[in-house]
Amino acid sequence: MNKVTVIPLQENFLERLAEEVFARHYQPDDPLALARVTVVLPHRRGIVYLRDYLFHLITARKKMPFVPPRIVAIKDLVEEAAIQLEDPPCRPLSPPDQAWVLFGVVRDNPSYGRVAETWDRFFPWGIRLAALLEEIDRELVIPQGIPYPGDVPPDAIALLEGLGAIYTAFDRLLKAEGLTTGGKRLRLLAEGIERLPLGEGPIYLAGFYALTNAEERIFRHLFSQDARILWHADPERLPPLYRRWKDEWGMEIETQGGDTPRPPQLHYYEAYDLHAELLHMQATIPAGIQRPDQCALVLPDPSVLIPALYSLPPRMPVNVSLGYPLERTALSSLLDQLMRLQEGRDEEGAYYHQDYLTLIRHPYLRRLPTPSGKEGRIVLHFLEEKIRHYGKPFLTREGLVEVLAISEDEERDRRFLATEDLDLSEAQRFVQGLHQQLLEPWEAVQTPRGLAGALRGLVRFLFSPFVGTEDSLHDHPLDNEFIYTLEGSVIPSLEDALFARHPMDARLLFSLLREVIHMARTPFEGHPLVGLQVLGLLETRLLSFDRVIVIDVNEDIIPAHEEVNPLLPEPLKGILGLKGSEREEAIVRYHFDRLISCAKEAHLFWQASTMPGSGGLEGKKVRSRFIEGLLWQEEKKRGAFLEEAVAKAPLRISGKSFHREEGLAKKGRDHRQVKEFLSEWSRMHGLSASFLNTYLLCPLKFYYRYLLGLKPAIAVTEEVDSAALGEIMHQVLEAYFSPYRKRQYRKAADNDSERLISIFRERFSGSTMCRCLAPEKRFFLEYAAAYRLQSYLSQMPEVTFIEALEEEYRLPLSMGRGEFIFYGKVDRIDRRGGHRIILDYKTGRVEGFVKGHFERSLLPFPIPNEPDYEGLKAVKRAIKDLQLPLYCLLVAAGSTEALGSTLAAYVELGRGGNERYFIPPDRIDGLRAASIAWFSSSFPSLLAYLIDHMVEASHFFPATDEDACRYCDYEAVCRFSFAS
Ligand code: SF4
Repeated sequence: MNKVTVIPLQENFLERLAEEVFARHYQPDDPLALARVTVVLPHRRGIVYLRDYLFHLITARKKMPFVPPRIVAIKDLVEEAAIQLEDPPCRPLSPPDQAWVLFGVVRDNPSYGRVAETWDRFFPWGIRLAALLEEIDRELVIPQGIPYPGDVPPDAIALLEGLGAIYTAFDRLLKAEGLTTGGKRLRLLAEGIERLPLGEGPIYLAGFYALTNAEERIFRHLFSQDARILWHADPERLPPLYRRWKDEWGMEIETQGGDTPRPPQLHYYEAYDLHAELLHMQATIPAGIQRPDQCALVLPDPSVLIPALYSLPPRMPVNVSLGYPLERTALSSLLDQLMRLQEGRDEEGAYYHQDYLTLIRHPYLRRLPTPSGKEGRIVLHFLEEKIRHYGKPFLTREGLVEVLAISEDEERDRRFLATEDLDLSEAQRFVQGLHQQLLEPWEAVQTPRGLAGALRGLVRFLFSPFVGTEDSLHDHPLDNEFIYTLEGSVIPSLEDALFARHPMDARLLFSLLREVIHMARTPFEGHPLVGLQVLGLLETRLLSFDRVIVIDVNEDIIPAHEEVNPLLPEPLKGILGLKGSEREEAIVRYHFDRLISCAKEAHLFWQASTMPGSGGLEGKKVRSRFIEGLLWQEEKKRGAFLEEAVAKAPLRISGKSFHREEGLAKKGRDHRQVKEFLSEWSRMHGLSASFLNTYLLCPLKFYYRYLLGLKPAIAVTEEVDSAALGEIMHQVLEAYFSPYRKRQYRKAADNDSERLISIFRERFSGSTMCRCLAPEKRFFLEYAAAYRLQSYLSQMPEVTFIEALEEEYRLPLSMGRGEFIFYGKVDRIDRRGGHRIILDYKTGRVEGFVKGHFERSLLPFPIPNEPDYEGLKAVKRAIKDLQLPLYCLLVAAGSTEALGSTLAAYVELGRGGNERYFIPPDRIDGLRAASIAWFSSSFPSLLAYLIDHMVEASHFFPATDEDACRYCDYEAVCRFSFAS
C-alpha cells in the first residue's frame, strides 16, 4: 500500500521535495527525464520556489541543462483537465454572470416571491446564491430544498426552500448554453477522473492540508494510481485535518527528513497601533538579505501593505506576493466618488456641490495638466473658491463652468491665474474637458458595457498624460498594478458579462461595479525571487523562512472575522451537508503554526489599542487566540507565566501633551505689535462693539480674526444663514422706516405691513441665500419672516419719533495708552417720553440683561488690577456684552445730560419685537445719577482695562465662556478649543 510521506516541520518542505524529485527522476543523460513528472501544489507561489530550489540543486551539482517538471497549482490542473471532459469546452462564468443565469431560473416564477421580480432586487441574493452553489459543487453535495428555514430574511426563505429545483434548473441551463463555473469544473473532473489520464509520468500531490470532497475524490483516485502524497507536519502530532484524512483513508505514514525538532525562537511584541508595530518591525529586518527564504514579512491583513512598504529601509529589494484589495486604492476611491456624484444628482440632473468638491480634490485629478500643459490644480483650486463664494447647493455642468467667471474682483482673479500663466478661457476649457471625460459618459451609462466604456475612457484620460514619464513611476510605483487590475479584470467582467447589453438602472449598475471592485484583488506575484519577501498569510503556504515577521496577529484578523451569511447562516450549513466555519479556523491555524514552526526565529506583533465600541463603550484590540495558544504551550513547559516575554511597543506621548497650555504665549515684540495694531485699527476703523466683544469672549479668536486676518471658511448656503438673514432684516427695516426719518411714526395711521413684506420679498429675492435655498426651505423662511415682521409692526408703540436710522458714531477717548477712537453704527434711535432710545435689531437669540443686572452686577464691580485670564473672565461675567453700553456712550458723545436720558435696547424680531433694555425705562429715573457716574468713569475704565489687557496680557487666552467654542468658526483649527 502507498504511504503518505510526512516531511517534519524543521525541514524546508519545498527544498526537500526538490531533492526527492531530483533524486528519483533526474537523469544526467536525459534532459527530458524531469519533464515527465507532474507536481501539483495548492497554489502558484510555491511553484516559483520549487523551480528555484531545483535549479540551484541541479546547477550546483551537475551543471547540466534540464527541462523542469510540470509544476501546477491545483486550480490550473482542474481547468486544464476539465476542458478535456467538456465537449466542446465551456465558457466559465464570473459570479455576477452566475447570478444573471440564476435570475433567469427564478424570474417570473411566483413561488420565489418578490426577490425574483427584478434584477435589481435579485442581484445581491444572486451573488450569494451563486457562491452557495459553487460550494455545493465543490463538496459534491446533491442539494435539496430546505423546508421552513429559520433565522433568514423573507427573500432568502423562498430561495432556500427551492434550492434543489434552482440547482437542477441552473445546471441544465448552463449545459444548454455551453457555460460552466469553477465549482462545476471541479465536480466534473471528480466525477470523471477514472476516465481521464492526468499525466503519463509520476504525480506528486504536495503540501495539501484541507480537501474539498471533490478534491478528495480526485486525490483518492490518483493515490490508488501511485501518486505520491507529501505532507508538511510534525509526524508525532499531526494536526486535526491530517489525522482525519489518515483515519478516513486508512493510510500509513512515513517520515522523511530530520527527526530532531528545532523549536523556533519566538519574540512577542504588543504594540499600541499599526504605526508602533511598523516602527518596531524595522529593527527586526536583517540587513543584506541574500536568499528568498531568508526573511518574510507576513501581512495577514493585506490592506496594511502600503504603510508597511513605506516603513521599510530605503532602497531595500522587496518582493511582494499577495492580493491587495482594489477597493483600498486611490483609484477605487475615485470611482466611488464618481458614482456618488451621479447618485447625488437632483431631479434636474444638477450635481451636489459637496460631492463635486470631493471629486475635484482627488489627487488623480489635481495632477492633470491643462490644455496647454500648465498645472490643472491651480484651476481646480480656483474653481473650488468660486463654488464656495457663488455656487448653489446643486449645480449643472454648465453652471460649474459659468461660476468661474463670476467675480467681485476680476483683476485679482486675473493675477491669481496668471501665476501659472493661465487665463480664464483656458481654465474654462480645462473644466469643460474634465466634465466631458468624467461626467458626461457617467451620466449616459445604461448598460454594463456602457459602464465598461466609461471606465476605459476614464483610465485613458487620467493616465495617458503620464505614460512613460519617470516621475509617475517614481511617485506612484504601485499605480500601474492597480490600473492593470482595473483594465484586465474589472472592465472585462462588465464588458463580457452575459448581461453586458441589458439596460439597467444607474443605481444597479453602480452596485454591480462596487461588487466587482469589492471582489477584485491586485495580484502582486513577486517575481523574480529577490530580497525581503512580503506575503499574505495564505501566500506563505509550503514556504519556509529563517526569519518570519508577522504583523497584526490579532483576533478578527487571524483567524479572520466571519461575516454572517444572510442566505445560509452557520446552523443551516450542516443540513445541506456543507462544512462549518470551525474547519476554516483549523486551516488558518495549521498555516500559521506551520509557518512559525518552520522558522528559526519568529517575531509576532499585535495591536492593543483601544477603539470605539458599540453603546458608547470602548473596546480593545486583543491578540489572536493563536498567540494565546503559543504562550500557553510555553508556559506549561516552563511552569511560569510568560507575560514578561512580551515586549511592549507603546504609543509614546510627551507628558507635555497632557498639560493644558494657558493659551498662545506672547513673545518678544508681540506686545508692541499688538499696541501698534490697535492704534492703526482705531485710526482706520474705530474700535467697534464686535471688535471688543470678540476679545472679551475669546482673545484667541480675536487673534485669529483681527491680528492674523484669518477669514472663516466660506461654504455654500444650504440652510438658513442667520447672519445673512439678520443683514436682510436690517436693510428691510431701514428701508421701511426711512420715509419717517426725523418724523413721528403713528402706529394706527402708518403701519403698512404689505409694504414691509414687499420690501422684504424684494431684498430676499436678490440675496445669495434665496438663490441657494431649496424651494421648501425658501417658502418656510419667507413665511416665517413675513409673520415676524407683521408681529413687530403690531407691537410698535402708538407714537414714536424716529430720530436716526443706521447712523454712524465715533468718539475719541483718552486712555493710559493714548487716545483711541470708538465706533458704532446704530440701527435706529427713537425719542419717546423724554428719552432717547437706541434700538438694535436682533434676529437670533439675545443674551439679555436680567432685571437689576446694572445695579447688582455692574455698579459694584471693581475693575481687576491684573491683565490676566481670571481678570478677563470676571469682566466677561459682569458685563456680558459691551454693545448697548458702548452705543449709549457713543450717542451721548460724553454729554452728562445726554447720558442721563439715553437708553438702549435689543429688539427681538423673533419674539414679536420685544425690547430688552440695558437699563429699563421704568428704572432710569431712580438710577440716573449712578448711571451718569458709571458711564462717565467706570465704563471708560473698563474699556481701558480691555485695551491694556490686549497689549499686556502674557497670552492670547482661550474662551472666557467655554460654550463659545461650540459655535466658533475656528473650532476645527484651534488647539485650545474646549469643545474637543
Ligand atoms: S475654539 Fe474656543 S478657544 Fe478657540 S478660538 Fe474659538 S472660542 Fe476661542
